[in-house]
Amino acid sequence: MNTADVIVIGGGIHGCSTALHCRLRGLSVVVVEKDHVARHASGVNAGGVRRLNRHPAEIPLAMASAALWQRIEDLVHDDCGYRQTGQIRVAEGEPGLAAIAARRRLVEGLGYSHEQWIGPEELFELVPAISRHCLGALWTADDGHADPTRTTRAFARQAAALGAEFLTPCRAGMPRRAGGGWQVPTDRGTFSGAQVVNCAGAWGGAVAAALGEPVPIEPIAPMMLVTARMAPFVDPVVASFDRMISFKQSPNGSVVIGGGWRSRAEPDANRAHVEFGELHRLIGTTLDLFPVMRGARIVRSWAGIEGAMPDAIPVIGPSMTAPGVIHAFGFSAHGFQLGPIGGAIVADLVESGATSLPIEPFSIARFAGQAWREAS
Ligand SMILES: Cc1cc2nc3c(=O)[nH]c(=O)nc-3n(C[C@H](O)[C@H](O)[C@H](O)COP(=O)(O)OP(=O)(O)OC[C@H]3O[C@@H](n4cnc5c(N)ncnc54)[C@H](O)[C@@H]3O)c2cc1C
Repeated sequence: MNTADVIVIGGGIHGCSTALHCRLRGLSVVVVEKDHVARHASGVNAGGVRRLNRHPAEIPLAMASAALWQRIEDLVHDDCGYRQTGQIRVAEGEPGLAAIAARRRLVEGLGYSHEQWIGPEELFELVPAISRHCLGALWTADDGHADPTRTTRAFARQAAALGAEFLTPCRAGMPRRAGGGWQVPTDRGTFSGAQVVNCAGAWGGAVAAALGEPVPIEPIAPMMLVTARMAPFVDPVVASFDRMISFKQSPNGSVVIGGGWRSRAEPDANRAHVEFGELHRLIGTTLDLFPVMRGARIVRSWAGIEGAMPDAIPVIGPSMTAPGVIHAFGFSAHGFQLGPIGGAIVADLVESGATSLPIEPFSIARFAGQAWREAS
């Protein structure tokens, strides 16, 4: 029988970060990944490292994660392509301005100051290439972006260097109770451990359901576009309050464009589809916001499979039905920035059953019975 203190299901950024933080606390860890590390959302995302415009419940976690991003090289011995270019969310019309006003009231009311209003002059100075119809923006100067595959692999590499075992490709079956702990059947035999961590991303709902706590997770497939290299013209990551877009230029000059446009995900078949009709609308927004993009050559588009929760925040915390199981899944298309702290939170829970960060809003208990429907 193979044993470990902690068995992690899923080798995305949350599973790899969990493995690293557990090893840093001296716990033995096995990560079971059905494909390969960073194969899914964690390796194909837009790389946005953003606190700007987070759900209020996520802000404390995003702040703590930002502190880890600042020292990412110390943590994983790789700079992960992390650049603090800032992130900007523009208003293009009156609805956008109203959204900014409401957002400022909310964030300032919570006592945060990381989201700053900038008027048109400052915006055009920061992003000279942006269309002059923009009316202003919210700006978080020390947000940025990183290379998603490189980051996720760096977490896995450092966890492995410290002794975590990675089984890939290796599918985990559903955990079952054994004595005071858990057994997880896998393609490479059964593993037993005191604790199991469900970091299975869009597949995390299947693990929760098998433990008797189904959740309304929706597999989604956000789409991305990338262009051929262009001369540098934009530094910060740019989004809009009025339309769905996220826009950044990579250090190599290619422009990476997304913003939450969804296509069809087939998690059972490991497939996500690209719908070119929808991408055509994204291209329209791109040209409106960045006239310099006229004539740019799109070289690739893709979609990744992600788990979305109805309230757009993840499930993080202990199982309500299965003592010794911890969930961390359903990051609803913005879990990359939370990766570094997500693993630390899970390691806290594994080690002591508690964490100093406020994770109550992420409890799986919110989906018990009909309560979530009434609350939403
Ligand atoms: C196109 C796109 C753009 C995005 N842009 C951003 C962004 O800019 N900023 C941001 O913060 N977030 C972004 N996100 C969201 C972010 O990528 C995810 O929230 C995050 O990567 C989730 O990490 P994870 O480890 O929970 O899931 P995943 O990366 O999906 O990892 C879960 C892993 O579990 C494995 N698994 C599942 N079931 C089993 C099983 N039974 N046995 C073994 N292994 C199993 C899967 O194979 C998978 O590798 C984006 C997502 C997409 C798709």
